[in-house]
Amino acid sequence: MTKVVKSGVLLIFLLLIVFCFAGCGSASALDRASSSASNYTISAVLDYENKTLSASETVEYKNNSANDLNEIKFHLYPNAFRSEATVFKAVSDTQFSRAYPNGFSEGNITINAAKVAGNDVDFEITGDDRNILSVPLSTPLRAGQSTEIDISFEIVIPNCNHRFGYGENTLNLGNWYPIACVFENGEFATDGYSPNGDPFYSDVANFVVELTYPENLTLASTGAVIDTTSTGDQTKTTMTARAVRDFAMILSEKFEMKSATVGETTINYYYYDDENADAHLQTAIDALNTFSEMFGDYPYSTLNVAKANFLQGGMEYPNLVFISDEVDVDSEYSNVIIHEIAHQWWYGVIGNNECENAWLDEGLADYSTALFYDRNPSYNRTSEQVLGSALSSYLLFCDVYREVYDDFDTSMNRNIHKFNTETEYVYLTYVKGVLMFDSLSEIIGQEKMFKVLQNFYSENAFTNASPADLVEAFEDVTHKKLAGYIMSWLDGSVVFEELTS
Ligand SMILES: [Zn+2]
Repeated sequence: MTKVVKSGVLLIFLLLIVFCFAGCGSASALDRASSSASNYTISAVLDYENKTLSASETVEYKNNSANDLNEIKFHLYPNAFRSEATVFKAVSDTQFSRAYPNGFSEGNITINAAKVAGNDVDFEITGDDRNILSVPLSTPLRAGQSTEIDISFEIVIPNCNHRFGYGENTLNLGNWYPIACVFENGEFATDGYSPNGDPFYSDVANFVVELTYPENLTLASTGAVIDTTSTGDQTKTTMTARAVRDFAMILSEKFEMKSATVGETTINYYYYDDENADAHLQTAIDALNTFSEMFGDYPYSTLNVAKANFLQGGMEYPNLVFISDEVDVDSEYSNVIIHEIAHQWWYGVIGNNECENAWLDEGLADYSTALFYDRNPSYNRTSEQVLGSALSSYLLFCDVYREVYDDFDTSMNRNIHKFNTETEYVYLTYVKGVLMFDSLSEIIGQEKMFKVLQNFYSENAFTNASPADLVEAFEDVTHKKLAGYIMSWLDGSVVFEELTS
């Protein structure tokens, strides 16, 4: 069966390549990114009753670094949901009761076997919390070369209102499969899970994912569905995605769905218990239109927005966002939709190391959300209101924290694990992030600010951008030396009261 799946999957990749060369006069940035990216093919079967999933994954791994590699490392994010997880656990004590309303529930991943180029290898599970799979290569993989890695694995899905877990309404499969760590600066970036923020970092890749699941479930995912078949009471759906940096899925017995087409993109809103479903689909349409006009085209054919059991407002994945059903104020629910769709530009098409520079994608997503309101007056908010309330709440946060901590640290460029509390993380990445971008806009003017963001987007699409890339975009457009100013925000030395007086 595995061989049949693999040859089928190989055929799909070949068809995608043929389609691309037949259909495109000149290769787009997405085509170019896709042709140099690694290829993942995953065949998975969901045991819905027992909330487990078994899968075989083949990665055609392309060594796009300048180094020879003796091993390939993969993140095993489901192990952050183990009862024994301590260093890189997914849920903090303060989040526990909202994450686990029925008490703690185990989640994990077991690697059954790994092969390289068809040969079994002695893989290792490493990391401080069994969070890394290391696959040894018997001969070094030279720069520019590819190799094929097969991994068979099983996951246990916890009863947890999280990215990876199930609640009363949805089963969320975020960060569920072994995904290659980014290789940079001579090593793999192996940062583990954090209860704060979105601690993920990956390269874009191409995916063909086949999932078998009970027919009473509705599935939404990254990518586009290319085939659905039914056998007995099971549905098998095959999905493909090119040049995306992750592949997530969500299933529900309760999902209803509304769709719209915007340009070349189909937007689907999956929901339950939503009297305002039409309005929420419209919000997704407005966000896609607004951000495409402001920053550059959304390059994918599908955008799925799914209501979900999720404890933290919303979550972005390529082509798929989760919107928490705990957000019960309608204007805030819309705000989450807008913020998560902004992430399709900042995180999705342009990636960044979210463990080291969370302010980059979160600051830009919140700043984009503020700008959205000026272009969409029917939402009865303005960027001035949003930014004004961000400033006053940030100043209040600083006052309170200065009372608590003698040497209160306002640096933004800290590793995600170095923030003391979730509140500190939120204020110093989201809120201070949006204030930094607003301050830069004040200095250079809004017209140039748009030009900077458009250039940043087009120059870094489908790559992982660093803070230096962002500084470069500012300096190229404005011909001003802004590195020192931006750094003073990031390292906490900017004198905020002077800026606001
Ligand atoms: Zn966000």
